Amino acid sequence: MVFRRNLNHKYNAQKSVCQSGHTHPSNGEAHYCDVLRLKKKAGEIKDYEIQINHSLFVNGKKITVMRIDFKIINSDDSFEYHEYKGVFTKDFLIRKKLFEAINPNIIYKIITKEFL
Ligand SMILES: [Zn+2]
Repeated sequence: MVFRRNLNHKYNAQKSVCQSGHTHPSNGEAHYCDVLRLKKKAGEIKDYEIQINHSLFVNGKKITVMRIDFKIINSDDSFEYHEYKGVFTKDFLIRKKLFEAINPNIIYKIITKEFL
């Protein structure tokens, strides 16, 4: 038997709505949004935002815009970025390295299925 993957569904990600009513590009991301919602309710974090655009500049030239899944605002008003990833593409790994090289002071955390 030949098993053929449906190539129309890239990485089998399915759009999914979280408990806050946002549409997320994958189940995992929607689930992580629910986790953050509970953390906010419990007072563990102050707030969170979804789908933040963060431009990356090198020598004054705009290279790309990163779409960050979650911006977490901590109780002390510091913030960090969390990115839910089901699949690590080459493109993503380069963007991640670029982001970290340009923004060494921003905490940029990758959340994977194993975390959930
Ligand atoms: Zn959400």
